[in-house]
Amino acid sequence: MRSVSILGATGSIGASSLDVIARHPQLFRVAALAAHRKVDELVALCARFSPDLAVIADAAFEQSLRDKIQSAGLGTRVASGNEGLREAATSGDTVVAAIVGAAGLDSTLAAARAGKRVLLANKEAVVMAGALLLEALRHGGGELIPIDSEHNAIFQCLPGGRPDLAGAGVRRILLTASGGPFRGRTRAQLAAITPEQACAHPNWVMGRKISVDSATLMNKGLEVIEAHWLFGATPAQIEVVVHGESIVHSLVEYVDGSVLAQLGNPDMRTALAHALAWPERIEAGVATLDLMKIGQLHFEAPDRQTFRCLDLAYQALAAGGTAPTILNAANEVAVGAFLERTLPFLAISELIESTLAAVPSVPVDSVDTLIHADLTARNAAQRIIRRAFC
Ligand code: NAD
Ligand code: MG
Repeated sequence: MRSVSILGATGSIGASSLDVIARHPQLFRVAALAAHRKVDELVALCARFSPDLAVIADAAFEQSLRDKIQSAGLGTRVASGNEGLREAATSGDTVVAAIVGAAGLDSTLAAARAGKRVLLANKEAVVMAGALLLEALRHGGGELIPIDSEHNAIFQCLPGGRPDLAGAGVRRILLTASGGPFRGRTRAQLAAITPEQACAHPNWVMGRKISVDSATLMNKGLEVIEAHWLFGATPAQIEVVVHGESIVHSLVEYVDGSVLAQLGNPDMRTALAHALAWPERIEAGVATLDLMKIGQLHFEAPDRQTFRCLDLAYQALAAGGTAPTILNAANEVAVGAFLERTLPFLAISELIESTLAAVPSVPVDSVDTLIHADLTARNAAQRIIRRAFC
């Protein structure tokens, strides 16, 4: 039986993970559940899944969590803060890294160092710390299985769980993108977009940050950087293809001309079930793919002029060093400000571009370098917002 810790248990990926786990009580038990601030939701999950440990990241809520766990008569131990997240990340043998943003970096690295099977949803961690995360995995002796549907698809299309292009005869990776809710629109049509419109994704139900990233195409940009690290692909080997139906989750083209794809309904439980049970296959609760009903699948090039975040991500990848960390930090600030209605939709890419220009990239020699770059970029982005948009 596998014991699973879920970091980001109250989120969209957390819920899908627990849905799959609940279908297989003979295969999985929950070791730890961690959330940011939603105490009541976390207590309800503890009542249902009886983990050994519950962690609330914001320490101000620890007492409230402790009281509610106690009055519910649960035997779950309680912890908080970064220490608590690390403890959750090193509990059990499998860790679902599903915290959103740079906030997930420390615990994702801790799980990798501890030799866990890391189910990586927290793409921002690999964007920030690609080389260090791979080194931590090598040191820890564990394994990483991607949860991002595109990277999970690529993993499935590569030979026998060998998540590396080197020596596999791969020509390139085709990363599919839905194009988000604004596919086909001009820049002029995007000027007055609201957070509600940006978060209404046509195919996937997700957290607010990744929904906005999908609308700007930054999500695909982050995924290009993610594919570079997870599969050892050069930027030239990664091509983005817009595929509005979100049925083909990505493709791998081999040197002999074969192109392998993974298809399925857009439901994250497929990737989660695949990664939880790998190399076995288990029921995920996902509906059968009805190709007759779907009828046609469409593919087109991304509109890089309208959705400039994609090129900014390629540029940050080419620049190397802390540039992807700066890109990610500026994007987190920009998306936060857009969701708070202090930054217009089209200014998201402008802010990221200005921040990349303002903060020099330096080589990554330690996690401290990354944390410093993240903080410097956030401060620079906030300054630019105050100067240009307030
Ligand atoms: P979400 O907003 O629904 O959930 C985020 C989770 O992270 C919540 O449980 C929240 O409590 C926790 N969290 C937030 N800030 C935290 C902090 N400072 N400390 C500790 N915990 C914190 O987000 P989501 O859609 O589930 O996405 C989670 C991650 O998975 C993101 O990195 C996203 O890019 C990635 N991802 C999501 C999907 C999807 O379909 N939702 C698909 C691919 C990748
Ligand atoms: Mg994805």
